[in-house]
Amino acid sequence: MSKQAYKFRLYPTRKQVQTLVWTLDRCRELYNAALQERRDAYRMTGTSITYYDQANQLPEIKEIREEYKDIHSQVLQDVLRKADKAFKAFFARCKRGDTPGFPRYKGKGHFDSFCYPQTGFSLTHDNRVCLSKIGSMKVKLHREIKGTVKTCTIKREGDLWHVVFACEVEPEPLDENSEAVGIDLGLLHFATLSDGSTIENPRYYRKAQKQLEHLQQALSRKKRGSTRRKKAVKAVTKAHRKVANQRKDFLHKESRRLVNSYGFIVFEELQPANMSKRPKPKQDGNGTYLPNGAASKGGLNKSILDAGWGLFQQFCRYKAANAGREVLFVNPTYTSQVCSGCGSIVKKELSERWHSCECGCSLDRDHNAAINILALGRSIQEQS
Ligand SMILES: [Zn+2]
Repeated sequence: MSKQAYKFRLYPTRKQVQTLVWTLDRCRELYNAALQERRDAYRMTGTSITYYDQANQLPEIKEIREEYKDIHSQVLQDVLRKADKAFKAFFARCKRGDTPGFPRYKGKGHFDSFCYPQTGFSLTHDNRVCLSKIGSMKVKLHREIKGTVKTCTIKREGDLWHVVFACEVEPEPLDENSEAVGIDLGLLHFATLSDGSTIENPRYYRKAQKQLEHLQQALSRKKRGSTRRKKAVKAVTKAHRKVANQRKDFLHKESRRLVNSYGFIVFEELQPANMSKRPKPKQDGNGTYLPNGAASKGGLNKSILDAGWGLFQQFCRYKAANAGREVLFVNPTYTSQVCSGCGSIVKKELSERWHSCECGCSLDRDHNAAINILALGRSIQEQS
């Protein structure tokens, strides 16, 4: 079985929006309380509290705080599961020896979704989503849902509301295909393929990036707490959303094209260490980027370009799984330095765009890397 998520726009009434916002706030409160209890236990006694310890307290909480009776039990359980996951990730970081950092409390406006993990929701034939304890609201089903719906997540994105159905779908295998490709992801070209062709970033990225920069500068000139600032924040959020949607659209199309054309696709593993070297964007309380010179630019580049690579690999992976095709990830060390013709190392700076070797091999740097990536993938495939 492979997984597929379907996201649709929701149209709650004004009153339902109030209920949705209220539910998010209660969930956030519960999440923070769950973290608090775990932190206290860990600090004071060094013990860890399990999901079940916390879930067993829910009936008691509902007695003391009656308003929690107005939220579906499984939604509350899911919140506790999220806290559990955050803590497990924390312990995993400790184990690896990374700088751990406790899971963070969620501030107002930083808890944007809740989930019905099994029951409590339904989809009616007249295109409405019924949510337990909240009501039924119109949904725009712009595509057909395939497979079995497993979970239902309600998401707030700026002023908009969406529902995401996570489904399990039967694989739909494509015909056998022996074509293989290695892919180098980069800044100059979005992707360079081992056959020398490239996938370019769509031109509207630049346009959207320019627009975002303008909006962000406008935002930086507004006084904190002013109505104008609120408006400017909204405009930035909207622009970000637009870029994100355009990007997803582009990535879906290109990943579909690759999976349809190749039976075996090899990528480099993305290196999180390299990515975090970019300046970290500063965020204000509303989750928007603050203008801090290079940092805000880094944030933009990150949101526009870096995020694309990870998503692209993710899209290729699940589309390939669904089509019965193979995607492999290889270690990126040396892929740009090794000569794809003779295997010797040809050192080059990041700015050197051309690979030329004494053996006579001469080609674009990224093309050379893509060929090496494919070769690595093939050697791994042969070993297994
Ligand atoms: Zn060579």
